[in-house]
Amino acid sequence: MRNVAIVGTGYVGLVTGVCLSEIGHNVICIDIDQEKVKKLKAGKLSIFEPNLEELMITNIERGRLSFTSDHAEGFKDSEVIYIAVGTPQKTDGSADLTHIEQVAVQIALHAKRDVIVVTKSTVPVGTNERIKEIIHEYLVSDIKIDIVSNPEFLREGSAIHDTFNGDRIVIGAECEHAATIIEEINKPFQIPVYKTDIRSAEMIKYASNAFLATKISFINEIATICEHVGANVEDVAIGMGQDSRIGTKFLKAGIGYGGSCFPKDTNALYQIAGHKDYSFHLLKTVIDVNNKQQTLLVDKAKKRFGFLKGKKIAVLGLAFKPNTDDIREAASIFIINRLIAEGAGVTAYDPIAVKKAERVLRPEVQFMSNIEKAIHGTDAVFIVTEWREIIDFPLKKYVELMNRPIIFDGRNCYSLNEMKKFPIEYYSIGRPIIN
Ligand code: NAD
Repeated sequence: MRNVAIVGTGYVGLVTGVCLSEIGHNVICIDIDQEKVKKLKAGKLSIFEPNLEELMITNIERGRLSFTSDHAEGFKDSEVIYIAVGTPQKTDGSADLTHIEQVAVQIALHAKRDVIVVTKSTVPVGTNERIKEIIHEYLVSDIKIDIVSNPEFLREGSAIHDTFNGDRIVIGAECEHAATIIEEINKPFQIPVYKTDIRSAEMIKYASNAFLATKISFINEIATICEHVGANVEDVAIGMGQDSRIGTKFLKAGIGYGGSCFPKDTNALYQIAGHKDYSFHLLKTVIDVNNKQQTLLVDKAKKRFGFLKGKKIAVLGLAFKPNTDDIREAASIFIINRLIAEGAGVTAYDPIAVKKAERVLRPEVQFMSNIEKAIHGTDAVFIVTEWREIIDFPLKKYVELMNRPIIFDGRNCYSLNEMKKFPIEYYSIGRPIIN
């Protein structure tokens, strides 16, 4: 068992720390956000992630998991330091490495024994080498530093499950010894390990996210064509997916991808290519298609009503996907901003994400405590996030509570046959209109 430090206690860092302690390692998690650390020490999460809190408390009680905001304390006994800080998007689309560079300096100043520095954050190709350079530039102790790229593939909403059941663990290293230690650390997860060089490991993460984003934009383009030619994209996706070369996953038409990864990682990869004078046309189109897709429901509603000024519209679901409170780059933000710009009145509901949404959404939005209140007296409902609670909400209630029941469903939550049983005008993605 190893002494491990994790820098950054966001979705990736905290889940990694908790899971590594669960399989027996001694883990100390470090964050510069003192409020966060205070809460975590008290066994409270500052994010919503299913099953995380229970597992965290268990491992705090076992004495294998602790928290600090002091890097010196966090690094003093650590044989391995994982970097899991944010790499947000800069205005030009490239990745902002400020936090990563700060951590490299902190490691240089405070690491006191030979250490393997493992980058979990998603970083442009070459960043791990830059981390090593910075550490050597500021290093105060006479210690050996090894660098490993270990990109993260967990999904918010099922992060614990993904950590224990991932498809692969990618380890990019320049030294076999460091790669073997990281492989051993992960052994109890019993997940296949793929070892490669550092630059390829960094690229695997971007290429994977870009490919998944491409699948989404592809099926969304097919959905638009289906609407024009009278086909049903759900049936098309099933028929396509039965070809094992294609597969059924990530062929769900909808209002596009959001969240803290796909939008920023596709933009970053486009920039990485651009910096090498290569224009990644395909990826640019994937991004453009997604940007258009995210506000498709507004376009559909405008076409239906002619104008949206004065219309009352309920937006159901604010998180970028179900089972998370994360609203970074969520379609809800783009939709609501456009609805308000068009002069519509907006009510909104989400089972978990309202607190985070209130911080970024315009003050005109009225947040409601349940679906019934959100849809009451509205002219249209937009289904933006397919939370179970939203899907299971009885369709007859829309008939009872709305002025005239009109639903724009961005996630194809209902079968057309089910919808036909109700006097509801129903617009979905890539399927015929029901009215
Ligand atoms: P996040 O924004 O939720 O958390 C980052 C944390 O790092 C914050 O708590 C912040 O206070 C802390 N931090 C920043 N600088 C610090 C420093 N110098 N020392 C200590 N703590 C510091 O980020 P996230 O969503 O967990 O993502 C982290 C990285 O992992 C990103 O590169 C992201 O692209 C990647 N990633 C994210 C996901 C995901 O689903 N969220 C999945 C795979 C990969």
